[in-house]
Amino acid sequence: MILTNNDTAIQCSLAFPLTFLRWKKYEDGSRATEDRSLLFPATDFYPKSKSMHKISTLRYSLILSSCLIVLFLSCCKPPETSTSASGLEGKVICVDAGHGGTAEIDSYRVGVGGEREEWINLRVARYLKDLLENEGAQVVMTRTEDVQVGLQERAELAKDKGADVLLSIHHNAAADTSVNFPIIYYHANATENEASVKLARLVGRQLLSALFPEDSLISIASDHTIFPTAGTAVLRHSYGVPGIIGEATFFTNPSEEQRLRQEAYNLREAQAYLQALIGFFDEAVPPIEEKYSHIKIPAFQVLQEAERMAPTARLWLQDYQQGKTLYTEGKLDSAFQFLTRSARSFPDSYVASDAHRLRGEILLKLGKTKVADTAFQRVEEYYVELYED
Ligand SMILES: [Zn+2]
Repeated sequence: MILTNNDTAIQCSLAFPLTFLRWKKYEDGSRATEDRSLLFPATDFYPKSKSMHKISTLRYSLILSSCLIVLFLSCCKPPETSTSASGLEGKVICVDAGHGGTAEIDSYRVGVGGEREEWINLRVARYLKDLLENEGAQVVMTRTEDVQVGLQERAELAKDKGADVLLSIHHNAAADTSVNFPIIYYHANATENEASVKLARLVGRQLLSALFPEDSLISIASDHTIFPTAGTAVLRHSYGVPGIIGEATFFTNPSEEQRLRQEAYNLREAQAYLQALIGFFDEAVPPIEEKYSHIKIPAFQVLQEAERMAPTARLWLQDYQQGKTLYTEGKLDSAFQFLTRSARSFPDSYVASDAHRLRGEILLKLGKTKVADTAFQRVEEYYVELYED
């Protein structure tokens, strides 16, 4: 959730060690050349007797026949449509390493051990670039160094380059340092932005299986949950390109921060994104319709960035549980207050969807049908399950 709509460009360069893996595509290419020389030994060109000449003539005939058969078979062979088995060949992927160049002006986008989100984002993005290029994709990086790049500029780069997908790589922060689960954002309404929702689900599944124990929780949410009026700048300005913001893990969790410092762990995250993209292009890409053409949901005001780092925001889970208990006891007003506070404190948590659903049920019971409907629409458009029903 550590996102910003601030486009101020302050250049700042920080040196930090980065090592990168490179993949060789064809390591055994030279062996074929050596083998070919064995087919044409030099002695065949200098017959020494009639019997030797007959043997050589027979050998030449056999070689010639073999060549003709090979030529015939190669002519009959259907043309290959792609050299890539994954379907990423020729696809344009915009990889956006979130933030950058803010170490001197930003004191909260950093873990307790000193690791900064923008550094982690860049390491994962660079690994992903190599993995994608190895599959034949064309990668557009919004930044390759620890520098500031405007959010609209990042989005426009994706559009200008004709990106087939935009992946914005982030890592998350919360006041509650025990929190650690993935959050994947799509832009605006789920029923209008099907391609991005599909991508979000695939990324979510891969990140969960690569980085978390079995049965861990996840949240896949619209960016309107955190920026209620317009969503995030990167996804808003690139709308039309299937795109997501991936917040793989929380760097404010001290154990997670230690894992995020390890390059092997960053590579594992990049591999999860790669697998999600392979899955995405395995099937036809669903449509993206005009924004708000189905519905425009009124904004539900939530705590913003720094506010969500406040101590009261740590009560998001307790508030939800207490609200749920009070609801079952029939104490509708107080239940509504707790559920609302949970949804405001952590609007993209894995219980936020249920908090809104319960708010809707309470409003219905209180006879407030219209606002109840809005609450249910918010659940439908702004929160999706990991798997389709
Ligand atoms: Zn971020």
